[in-house]
Amino acid sequence: MVDPGERPEGFPTPVNIASSLFFESPEAIFRRVHREIRPRTPIPPIQVEYKPFANADSRVRLDQGRIAVQITDLLADAPAPVLESLAHILLGKLYRMPAARQYTHRYRLYLNRRDMRKQIHAVRQERGRKVHRGAQGAVHNLEEVFEHLNREHFGGMMARPGLGWSHVRSRTRLGHFDPSHNMIMISRIFDDTRAPRLALEYVMFHEMLHLRYPVDHSGSRRCVHTPEFKAHEKEFPAYKEARALLRKMW
Ligand SMILES: [Zn+2]
Repeated sequence: MVDPGERPEGFPTPVNIASSLFFESPEAIFRRVHREIRPRTPIPPIQVEYKPFANADSRVRLDQGRIAVQITDLLADAPAPVLESLAHILLGKLYRMPAARQYTHRYRLYLNRRDMRKQIHAVRQERGRKVHRGAQGAVHNLEEVFEHLNREHFGGMMARPGLGWSHVRSRTRLGHFDPSHNMIMISRIFDDTRAPRLALEYVMFHEMLHLRYPVDHSGSRRCVHTPEFKAHEKEFPAYKEARALLRKMW
C-alpha cells in the first residue's frame, strides 16, 4: 500500500492518508469480518492501533463493550487480505471460534516471507533487549546447569549462549531459545527449592537441542522439533521421569 521508497530504515510507517481514502481502513476490515463471523451480534466499537511490539504478536481484548485491537507495526503495510486474515484470527480468539485454515495459512505465509522474517529479526534485536534476568537465580545458576549438561551430553563442545531467567514465572513457556539473541531463557518457576532439579535440567537440555538443531524459521514463534531432535531428546537419561515431573508440577 505504501511506497516502500518512502520508508526510512525499512520500518513500516502507519497507513498514509491516500491509502486510507482509497482502501478499506483496518477498522472497516475488522467490522466486516465481525459481521461475517457473528452476523447476529451488533458490531461493537472497534479500535485498531499499530504498536511497536518486540515481536510479531498482535492482541485483541474486549474492554467495556469495545473491541481493542493492537497490531504489531510490522504489519502496518500488510496487504488487505493479510489484515483480513488477522481479523479472522483475532476475532476468532475473542469469540472462541477458531479461524478457518485458509486465514491462518495466509497469515503465516505472509509472516514467513523472507523480507518479513528479516524485519521481525531486526525488530527483535532492536527492541527485545533486557527481557530477562541474569543467569544467577535465587537457587540455581543457569551457567552451572548449562555447563553440567554440556559436559555430560555434548562433550563440553557446545558454545555457551546467553542464559537468563525469565521475569515472569511462566507455566506455559518453560524455556525458550531465541536465535536472534543467541539466548536461552528459562522460566523462573524452576528457580525454587521446591522445583526438582531434574525438571530444570530437562528443560535446559531441550533448549540446548534447539541450539544443536537450528531451523530456518527464526521469524515464526513455532518451536520446531525435527525427527533427529526428538530422537536425541529421548537420550536424556531420565527422559520419562522428567516429563512426568513437569506434568506433576502444575
Ligand atoms: Zn522446543
